[in-house]
Amino acid sequence: MEIEVKSQSDNEIVFIVRDAEVPFINAIRRCAMVNVPKIAIEDVNIIRNDSAMFNEVLAHRLGLTPLVSDLDAIEGLPLPEDDGWDDFNSGILFSLNEIGPKVVYSKDLISSDSKIKPVYDTIPLVKLKEDEEIIIEASAKVGYGKEHAKWMPTTVCAYKQYPEITFNDAVEIDYDCASACPRGVLKSDRRSKKIKILDIENCTMCKSCVRASSNGYINVGFHENDFIFRIETDGAMPPKEVLLKACDVLGEKADKFIKFSEEGGSK
Ligand code: SF4
Repeated sequence: MEIEVKSQSDNEIVFIVRDAEVPFINAIRRCAMVNVPKIAIEDVNIIRNDSAMFNEVLAHRLGLTPLVSDLDAIEGLPLPEDDGWDDFNSGILFSLNEIGPKVVYSKDLISSDSKIKPVYDTIPLVKLKEDEEIIIEASAKVGYGKEHAKWMPTTVCAYKQYPEITFNDAVEIDYDCASACPRGVLKSDRRSKKIKILDIENCTMCKSCVRASSNGYINVGFHENDFIFRIETDGAMPPKEVLLKACDVLGEKADKFIKFSEEGGSK
């Protein structure tokens, strides 16, 4: 199996995996979405809320505020499977104490741990009118995406098989197929009597080009064992960390399964 990173930024990684199987790639995708630990606000103690926003909605907004959850931040924190995880004080404590008129932003959340804070400062949480007050205590905990979307580290985690475009040279060249492509993958070059493939990785395999060709000049398929994989995060974790952790989790699951089957599947 070969892996080639095509692009990488703080929030997104795109890479190509060659010589792999669909179940393996899909297992990585699922582990990245639901088995990689992330920090999010879980318990909210609303002491005072004079705003027009219901307590439940406010708590929901706090839960979905992305918090820095890289490996450094998560290290040493209790996981849902650990004893005492349910305790309010076992999490990272946040406080919010504001008086209107103002818009309360994510940067107003004061964390008890300098490493763990909202990823973005400018997420509006609630609007307060003159003299309206809000006093909140919250506890953030490590959790998994399988329990709640707020613990899902990925906002996009998807793959497609590597596209393959072929031309039938036995029939007349059909330039209509190039102009039918909505993604700019194909370009007609009437001078050299060719249709050029500009960026095959941008092809969605929608087959608009195939339908536009009346004589079957173009055909679109895919490489069965090659994949283009894209992971995007909300900024809480670098996408490469998500991928590496997902691979670790999958490895641990495979080890457990091997052990289970070697023991005769009795437990
Ligand atoms: S399959 Fe769709 S995206 Fe791909 S080349 Fe044809 S029209 Fe463009």
